[in-house]
Amino acid sequence: MANKLWLIPIGFLLLPVMAGCTGPEQESPSVGLKILCTTEMLAEPVRKMVPPEIQVEHLMGSGVDPHLYKPTPKDLRKILRADLVFYHGHHLEGRMSEMLSQLEENSPTVKAIAVCEKIPTGDLILDESEAVDPHFWLDVPLWLKVCANLKSTLLESGQLPNEDLNRRYSELVSELETLHQSVIATLAPVQPSKRVLVTAHDAFAYFGNRYGFEVHGIQGISTESEPSLKRVNQLVKLLSDRKIPSIFVESTVPERNVLALIEGCQKLGHQLTVGGKLYSDAPGPPQSGADSWSKMVRHNAQTIAEGLK
Ligand SMILES: [Zn+2]
Repeated sequence: MANKLWLIPIGFLLLPVMAGCTGPEQESPSVGLKILCTTEMLAEPVRKMVPPEIQVEHLMGSGVDPHLYKPTPKDLRKILRADLVFYHGHHLEGRMSEMLSQLEENSPTVKAIAVCEKIPTGDLILDESEAVDPHFWLDVPLWLKVCANLKSTLLESGQLPNEDLNRRYSELVSELETLHQSVIATLAPVQPSKRVLVTAHDAFAYFGNRYGFEVHGIQGISTESEPSLKRVNQLVKLLSDRKIPSIFVESTVPERNVLALIEGCQKLGHQLTVGGKLYSDAPGPPQSGADSWSKMVRHNAQTIAEGLK
C-alpha cells in the first residue's frame, strides 16, 4: 500500500512540471547535467569531482536527521527535474527510501542510484536484526569506496569530460587519504583502555572498526526507536565499571537519552561528563567548524580525542 501512496504526490507534482507552470516557487533554469544528492555527505565529493558550472544540489543540510526526513513538495520537484539522483540506500533515507527506489520506474528521465548499496557485502556491518548499518561516511577509507562508485556513475553518464573527471577524482583520493591519516594522528593519544565510544545512536560502528574504538549506541542504528531502560542500565554499568570519562551527544538526536546515563552513573558514584557534540548524520551550521562532511570528520576526531584522553 505504501508504494501506491507515493505515486499520488509524484503524479500531482508531475502535472505542473510537465505543463511548464511551476508557480511562485519556480527555480531558476540551469544548463547541462543536473545532479541531486540526498545529503551533504554525498554532495561534497560529487562537487569536487565535477566542473564548477555543473549544478549539484543536496536536500538535507545542517542538523537534518536523514532517518526521519520527509521530502517537501519542492524537494520532490527538484528530484523529478534532476538527471542524476544520488542517495545512500540501505534505508538511511528512512521515509524517502521507498520513493527513491521506485523513482526510475515512475520517472524514466531520472537516473537514481543507491550508491552505498554497491559496496561489497564484506565491508558491511549488520545490526542484531540483520539490517545493514548505513553510516558509512564516518569511516574515511570506506567513504572513498563510495566516492569510487560516484565517479563510475558520473563517467557512465557520458556527459562529463573523462580526463577532467579522472583528474578531479585523483585529487579527491589524495585529499581523503590525508584526511584519514589526520584522523589516525588526532586519535593516537587516546589510550586503548579508554577507547570506548558511547553516543546517542549507533552511527559510529564503521568509525569504531576503522579507528579502533568499541562503540555503544544508546538508541540503535536508526533514530526512530527509543532506548529501553535495560539498555540504559547496561550502559551505566559499563561506563562506571570501566571508568570511561565521557560520552557524546549528537547534533541530530535529542540529548535526553545521554542525560539519563549521566544521572545513572552519578548514582553509582562515577562522574561522567558530556565530551562534546559529535556530528553523526549531518554537518553542523556555518560557525560550528563542522559545516561539511570532511570538517565533521575532523571535528569528531578532535572531540573524541579531547573527551577520552
Ligand atoms: Zn544515523
